[in-house]
Amino acid sequence: MAGIYIHIPFCKQACNYCDFHFSTSLKNKEAFLDALKKEIELQKDYLGTKKINTIYLGGGTPSLLNQNELMQVFGTIDKYFKIHKDAEITLEANPDDLTKNKIKELKSTPINRFSIGIQSFYDEDLKLMNRAHNSQEAISAVKGAQDAGFENITIDLIYGIPNLTEHRWRNNLQNAFLLDVKHISAYCLTVEPKTVLAHQVKTKQIKNIDEQQSSEQFEIMLDAMKQQSFCSIRNI
Ligand code: SF4
Repeated sequence: MAGIYIHIPFCKQACNYCDFHFSTSLKNKEAFLDALKKEIELQKDYLGTKKINTIYLGGGTPSLLNQNELMQVFGTIDKYFKIHKDAEITLEANPDDLTKNKIKELKSTPINRFSIGIQSFYDEDLKLMNRAHNSQEAISAVKGAQDAGFENITIDLIYGIPNLTEHRWRNNLQNAFLLDVKHISAYCLTVEPKTVLAHQVKTKQIKNIDEQQSSEQFEIMLDAMKQQSFCSIRNI
C-alpha cells in the first residue's frame, strides 16, 4: 500500500498550543506551490510502480488552498504517479474554511475525505486555544460537507484543556457522535516548548494541564468510543 502525504505550511492564525511548522503569512504561497510541484516531479520514481492508495493533505491548514491551487497539486501527482481509482484523498480542513461555496468548489476536486479540526464544541475552549473558528461553524462544516455528499469525514477533538470539565468533555464526545462521522481522533493537549500556551502557563495566565484530569478524560473517551463502536486505539 502506497501513500503520499503533503504538508501545507500555512494557517490563518496561530493556535496557542501548536508547534507544527507553519506561517500565518500567505505571501509565499505561490512560491511554495511551485516548489511543491517540482518536489513531486523529483520524487516521481520513489514509489516505483506502486499505485497510490492514499493522498493526505495535512498541515498547517490545507483548506486555505483554493480549488485551482488544489487542482495544480493533484494534477502534478497524477502526472508523475499512478493513483488507484479508489484512492482515499483527504483534505485537512478548518471549520471556518468549509463554507457552502468552498465545499461546492471542493466537490469538483478529487478530494473524497475531510479531516476537520473541531477540537471542542465550546467557544470558550476554542478561544482559549486561539482557534480561528467557533462551535457553530464546526457543526455547519460537517453538516455542509455531508449534505454535499462527502460521506467519509473524520474530526479532531482535544481533551485535557485546562477548563474542560468532565461534564463538558462528555458533552463534546456526545456532540461528536451526533454528527455521525466515520472516525474521531482525540488528542491530549500538551504544553510544547516555545508555544504561546507554554508562555501562558509559565506566567500563570492559564493553569497548567492537570495530568490526572487528562488521564480521566482519556478513560471516559475510551468507554464512550467503545459504546459507540469507535474502538481502535493507537499510541503515537
Ligand atoms: S490550524 Fe493546525 S497547524 Fe495551524 S496553528 Fe492551528 S493547530 Fe497548528
